[in-house]
Amino acid sequence: MSQRLWTIVFTKDDKISRESLEVISAAKQMGKDIDLTIEAIFAGHKISVEDYRELLHQGIDRVYIIDHKDFRDFNLGAMKELISEMAEKYSPSIILMPANVYGKELAPSLSGMLKTGLLADCIEIRHRDGFLECTRPIYAGRILSKVKLDCDGVKIASIRPHVYPVPETVDEVTTEVEIVQYNGFSGAGAVIREIQETLGGMDISEANIIVSGGKGMKSAENFALLEDLARLLGGAVGASRSAVDEGWRPHHDQVGQTGKVVMPDLYIACGISGAVQHLVGMNRSKCIVAINKDPDAPIMKIADYAIVGDLFEMIPILTEKFRKCRTGG
Ligand SMILES: Cc1cc2nc3c(=O)[nH]c(=O)nc-3n(C[C@H](O)[C@H](O)[C@H](O)COP(=O)(O)OP(=O)(O)OC[C@H]3O[C@@H](n4cnc5c(N)ncnc54)[C@H](O)[C@@H]3O)c2cc1C
Repeated sequence: MSQRLWTIVFTKDDKISRESLEVISAAKQMGKDIDLTIEAIFAGHKISVEDYRELLHQGIDRVYIIDHKDFRDFNLGAMKELISEMAEKYSPSIILMPANVYGKELAPSLSGMLKTGLLADCIEIRHRDGFLECTRPIYAGRILSKVKLDCDGVKIASIRPHVYPVPETVDEVTTEVEIVQYNGFSGAGAVIREIQETLGGMDISEANIIVSGGKGMKSAENFALLEDLARLLGGAVGASRSAVDEGWRPHHDQVGQTGKVVMPDLYIACGISGAVQHLVGMNRSKCIVAINKDPDAPIMKIADYAIVGDLFEMIPILTEKFRKCRTGG
């Protein structure tokens, strides 16, 4: 019998987030192992068809639309309540969501509410011999652990952003749309948007492109160079621990063993030597560019493109080149 798999859809700047589409890829991949009915949960406020049209072209079976003012921003309490109420009614076997800033909050609290197991921050997920099984990095990415979830009822997993591709869209729409009524959340809910505003800018663990600076940046003010480049590329600014210890960047920008583990498509390391504690946080990036005046710096050995030179000369040149590319020059 077909099992029901839900993917939770989050939005970013009023658009379906890339990570949510990646989770649909993970679901489709799993659908090759077992018979799955893949359904997406899309909750928002004042929803029009345009808001979720992209979901209709993913080749999935059904989209549930929940339109309520409680979902204007991400409200953890309301989301948790909605999904657990729906889970009681529809009995899904698996719930997947991105391990982004929202999913990292929702997945564990939902698993607590539903009294079930959770596979968090998976880089690979599959269904084997009746179990949900995943690969997830531990010890800052130095070890890949395989975890099998053996529990009754619904199984929950969060998928690390930028590991699965965005699915190819289909022209023919066969996806059903079902409107679900929600009566509103009576409790107090944490609204994550406020936290993001306090942090400012894009979270590095969700960014597709990261421009990171280290001790070689020499001052907090010089990070403006990296901010310019990151803005142009639509990315985020990261930092080594030395830069954070100097007080040039906040701790939530730190990449590495005691910071965040990131896997963007492009990681540009500027004035970072490449200590092992930094490398474990970024060495799974798809393309690494390092700018360093020392050709023997360890980061140069793992870089796909190693630029030997003074970053204060190189970064403005790079920024100008990218600007020209973007404007068709
Ligand atoms: C328990 C523990 C946990 C740690 N966790 C982390 C962590 O999470 N993240 C992390 O990053 N570190 C971490 N560290 C610290 C780590 O060991 C390094 O000290 C740190 O990563 C070095 O930062 P850096 O590369 O910016 O500085 P440095 O090692 O001082 O390197 C600066 C680099 O900039 C280059 N440079 C200087 N000027 C220029 C210029 N004008 N143009 C081009 N290049 C220039 C230099 O050649 C040099 O390679 C940890 C350490 C310990 C002990």
